[in-house]
Amino acid sequence: MPDARTHDLITLATGAAIGPLAYGYFSGPLARPHPDAMALTLWLVGAHVVSGVLFSPDLDLDSAIDDRWGILYWIWRPYMWMVPHRHFWSHSFIFAPLMRLGYFYLVVSLLLFGWVWLLARLGVVVPDYHIQLFHNLRALLGANTEITFFVLVGFCLGSAVHTIADWLVTSGRGVLRLFGVRIVRDYRSHDDAIHRRRRRRYA
Ligand SMILES: [Zn+2]
Repeated sequence: MPDARTHDLITLATGAAIGPLAYGYFSGPLARPHPDAMALTLWLVGAHVVSGVLFSPDLDLDSAIDDRWGILYWIWRPYMWMVPHRHFWSHSFIFAPLMRLGYFYLVVSLLLFGWVWLLARLGVVVPDYHIQLFHNLRALLGANTEITFFVLVGFCLGSAVHTIADWLVTSGRGVLRLFGVRIVRDYRSHDDAIHRRRRRRYA
């Protein structure tokens, strides 16, 4: 598969291309001109970039992506152990990115729950932060349904671009050849190599 840096460049390049297209769509003439065309465009492109760079499908293997989470890298360890590389669970177009968001929300909620529980054991009473998070998030998303929708569209796009790039250098080489691009490196054994390494590391 293309490495993390190449995927980043692809994410930024497609984000730069999607921006003007989205702005053109939001400001007419295809749709009714939207008063917040620029804001919606920024939300969509921002979600696309965040999805490709921080929530990349390659979080399913021990790659450069989880390093970007700094000291919070371990958040993605259970995900990495549970999800096979380049599987439907991590590389499908809509389900996989939405599952990563759901997973992230679940981990944050569990951390808050653990923190509240621990403090309660020590006799310190604090609000139920995990429940507050749920209600605040629901209110925020409910009050901004349009932004929420386009953030999710951008988020899914960021992931889809990655999956398409992976496919182009493996099964879709013929398509690249049509455009005069030849891939000389053989990426087909990449997945097995990673899995072998992971098996050794986590054995
Ligand atoms: Zn990938």
